[in-house]
Amino acid sequence: MISVPDLHRRLTALNCRTVAIQAPEGLKRLLPRLADDLHRLGYEVIISGDPCYGACDLDLDARDQADILVHIGHTPVDGTERVIYETWPVDGDISVIKEVIPRLTGKEAGLVTTVQHIHLLSQAASLLLDEGIKPIIAGPSPRTPCRGQVLGCSFEAARRTGAQEIIFLGTGLFHPIGIKLATGARVFACDPVTGNIEEPDSDRLLRVRFGLIQKAREADSYGIIVSSKTGQCRSQLADRLCSLSDKAYKVVLGEVTPDQLLNLGFPCYVNTACPRLAYDDQVRFPAPVLTPGEFEILCGVRDFDHYEVDEII
Ligand code: SF4
Repeated sequence: MISVPDLHRRLTALNCRTVAIQAPEGLKRLLPRLADDLHRLGYEVIISGDPCYGACDLDLDARDQADILVHIGHTPVDGTERVIYETWPVDGDISVIKEVIPRLTGKEAGLVTTVQHIHLLSQAASLLLDEGIKPIIAGPSPRTPCRGQVLGCSFEAARRTGAQEIIFLGTGLFHPIGIKLATGARVFACDPVTGNIEEPDSDRLLRVRFGLIQKAREADSYGIIVSSKTGQCRSQLADRLCSLSDKAYKVVLGEVTPDQLLNLGFPCYVNTACPRLAYDDQVRFPAPVLTPGEFEILCGVRDFDHYEVDEII
């Protein structure tokens, strides 16, 4: 829930009169109501209608038509100016963690979550302490300003715990698998909304990725995707990857879609945009889309034994 009076105070303090508002796809339907609330307080409001998947994807065109951009649902991943952030907390039942406790082999565990459940983290830590387990919560990192926060492109808060066993409080298996690959720790995925607990298996993902690298060996040229989005652009990395092959060309894209990759016609792509694209969306793409590390394996400058999950550091 967004507190409109609080937002009004923040906007007044910054002397803003024209406000652009942006939300990710799942929260977009909040925007007409928020626009209405702000309009009644005297603001001129511009709604960003383009797709948005994270704070890496700020609508700077909308911002530049306003005094400020209010981005809903995420925390900042960089220092882009004239943007304020409003998170969207999602409640859940942290008692799901209790079921993990008998499965822990040690007396301490790392504790991480995503931004929508950050407000549950201190309660979860207290629950672990009450059960005799020392919770380890790492401090902020450059892309994750909250303690214990992980992103699909940054598992730094998990790595910094140094723990052998890590509890992820959140939904889905992408983050837990990423944490497992990034840390080598045993990971428990505890969903505070459904009450489900899973221990993710990263081996299946590694087998799929190995198969893709093998398939990519047939390619005679490579499109190195560089994102034009504010917080996803890894141009220097793309330059370095291009230097590994004289058949690699940088391709600048905003949205990376199957149609665009089909139209461009490369037999293989390397993704330096949002790391989730290569992992989550491969089934939709017309050609192998490798991570930067996988391209290094393909080019013989890295062993598969030293596979690293892609992160934006
Ligand atoms: S780069 Fe991808 S994982 Fe990272 S914040 Fe953006 S959408 Fe999320």
